[in-house]
Amino acid sequence: MSTNAPIDRSSRVYISGHSGLVGSAIWRYLESQGFINLLGVSSGQLDLRDRPAVFSYFDAIRPDVVIDAAAKVGGIHANSTYPAEFLSDNLQIQLNVMDAANAHNVDRLLFLGSSCIYPRLAPQPIKEDSLLTGPLEPTNQAYAVAKIAGIMQVQAVRTQYGRRWISAMPTNLYGPGDNFHPQNAHVLPSLVRRFDAAARAGSPSVEVWGSGAPRREFLYVDDMASAALFLLENYDEPETINVGFGSDLSIAELAQLVAGTVGFEGRIVQDASKPDGTPQKLLDVSRMKALGWEASTSLADGLASTFEWFRQHHASLRNS
Ligand code: GDP
Repeated sequence: MSTNAPIDRSSRVYISGHSGLVGSAIWRYLESQGFINLLGVSSGQLDLRDRPAVFSYFDAIRPDVVIDAAAKVGGIHANSTYPAEFLSDNLQIQLNVMDAANAHNVDRLLFLGSSCIYPRLAPQPIKEDSLLTGPLEPTNQAYAVAKIAGIMQVQAVRTQYGRRWISAMPTNLYGPGDNFHPQNAHVLPSLVRRFDAAARAGSPSVEVWGSGAPRREFLYVDDMASAALFLLENYDEPETINVGFGSDLSIAELAQLVAGTVGFEGRIVQDASKPDGTPQKLLDVSRMKALGWEASTSLADGLASTFEWFRQHHASLRNS
C-alpha cells in the first residue's frame, strides 16, 4: 500500500550504524533533504550488543524515527569463516535496537536486511514472497537467519503494538565508504582493491574467486539511501520490500568492468578453489517500481565514484 506520510524534517531520527557504508549514505541523504536532528553514535562509544547501554542511549536521545542500518557484514569468506559472530552479533544488535525503539514508543522504524534472506534457488528475479520457501545458501545462512528474525520482529511489533514499522531488503550494496578488506569484503570492493594493486604493480595477471559464473546485482549506496526515506514516507506494510537495481551481471563481467575502471590490462584468472556461493541473486523490484521508486545510478558511474573514493582513502584503509 502506498501511504504518503511525510516525515517532519525536525524529527529526531536515529540512524544505527551511521558510520558504515549504508548508514553514512542515509545520513548524507537525509541532511540533503533538510533533516536537522539526525542522531548517531560510533561503535566505539556504544556497543549495540550491550542491551542496557542501548536502552540508556535511547533514554538520552528519545528518537521519533529509527533507521536500523547497523549490522556485522562481510563477503562470502567472512560469512563462512565467522558464522557464530554473524548470527549472534546481528541478532543482538537488531534485538536491542528494536526493543529499545518499541519501549520508547517509536512509531516509525525501518529495518534493513539483505537479499541473502531468500532461498538459494529462489526463482529469479526473486519476489518478496519467496521468503521461507526453501533452503538458504550455506555460505551466508547464519547472517540470513538473523536478518529473517529481524523481519519477523518488525511484523510482530506491527501486529502487537500497531506501529508503522517496515523492513526492506537491499541487494548487494557498494559505494564510497565501503569495506575494502582483502579477504572479508564483498566482491566489488575486493576486486577494486586487488585490480588496482595489480595495475600499480604492473602484474601480468590477477585472481578472481570462484568460476566467474555466479550472477549478482549491485546497487549504489546513495540510491539505497534515497529508497530508505522514500519507503518511510510511502510504504506501510508488514511484508518486506526489495530494493534493487533491476538487472545483474556475472562475476566475470564485473571483473572486466573493474579492470576497465582501474586501468588493469593483464590477464584475469578464475580461482576455482574458492566458493561461488548462490548461483544468482537478482531481486524483483516491481513492487518498488509500482510505488514510484527506481535506482538511478548506473554500475559504470557508481563504480567510477567508488574507485575515486578508494583512491583518495587508499592509504588509511583497514587490513585486518
Ligand atoms: P555473496 O553475494 O554473498 O556471494 O558475497 P560476495 O560479494 O562475497 O561474493 C559474490 C561472488 O563473487 C561469489 O561468487 C564470490 O566467489 C565472487 N568473488 C570473486 N572474487 C571475489 C573476491 O575477491 N572477494 C569476494 N568477496 N568475492 C569474490
